Amino acid sequence: MSKTFDSFGLNPALLQALASEGYTTPTPIQAQAIPDVMLGKDLLGIAQTGTGKTAAFALPILHRLAANRVAPKPRTARVLILSPTRELASQIAESFKTYGRHLGFKVAVVFGGVKYGPQERAIQAGLDVLVATPGRLLDHMQQKTLDLSSTEIFVLDEADQMLDLGFVKPIRQIVSRIPAMRQNLFFSATMPSEIGKLAGELLKDPVKVSVTPQATTVQRISQSIIHIEQGRKRALLTEMFADPHYTRCLVFTKTKHGADKVAAYLEAGGVEAGAIHGNKSQPQRERTL
Ligand code: AMP
Repeated sequence: MSKTFDSFGLNPALLQALASEGYTTPTPIQAQAIPDVMLGKDLLGIAQTGTGKTAAFALPILHRLAANRVAPKPRTARVLILSPTRELASQIAESFKTYGRHLGFKVAVVFGGVKYGPQERAIQAGLDVLVATPGRLLDHMQQKTLDLSSTEIFVLDEADQMLDLGFVKPIRQIVSRIPAMRQNLFFSATMPSEIGKLAGELLKDPVKVSVTPQATTVQRISQSIIHIEQGRKRALLTEMFADPHYTRCLVFTKTKHGADKVAAYLEAGGVEAGAIHGNKSQPQRERTL
């Protein structure tokens, strides 16, 4: 029988949040990572996005924070999570808020390209969880608006992407300011040698978890194939999308022209549709989305 979230002994407030999210069974990386991370061990996770890796670290981290509640001091963060992009940083922060919704922790996200003021105010109050991109985080450290001297848990997400974006040096600078007595969690989809080296420097006796996708698609996606003559494909699509079960669909075509034709055909058949491709401007694409 597969494990359940209850069997990990997670904080009941987390189990309640998971139940309302409709999560019943832990994904493989969650099943392998959660018990050890709850115990405070370091972790090396080889996993891609889509495997459930965010919850694999967010849940045990929230559990640990709740088990040892202390008010974070001004300008500090108990947990620091580094992410290569703003989108991912925002998603991670949202996950912490969702899973931790009954726990009342202070969670903030910090990334470049936006004003410093609101970020400074959020950090000034003291945070339980800070999710950040490396460049902006270093700025805050240099401005002395952030102090990492009491950070307890450090997470490096998508380490291989960090390497591609030139963030390895900033990461080393950031880590040098966090106390050596900390828990480290390190995630990467691949292990190029420089990332292996960084993992070796950061992690102490880590538990290793690797979930390579067996196929190219996520387990939760079921696939089927329909054989049909070329000329009837669009009519079939119109028929299928008339079914209210299909609420948000993506159709891929071979050419840009083909995308326009399919979208126009669907529209004519009463299916709300739009095309996005390289000949459309950014505003056009956004309007379509
Ligand atoms: P991630 O790999 O962290 O980006 O997660 C991929 C997606 O899977 C997210 O949309 C999560 O909300 C969802 N997810 C994570 N864990 C579970 C679970 N145990 N059951 C169902 N969905 C999950």
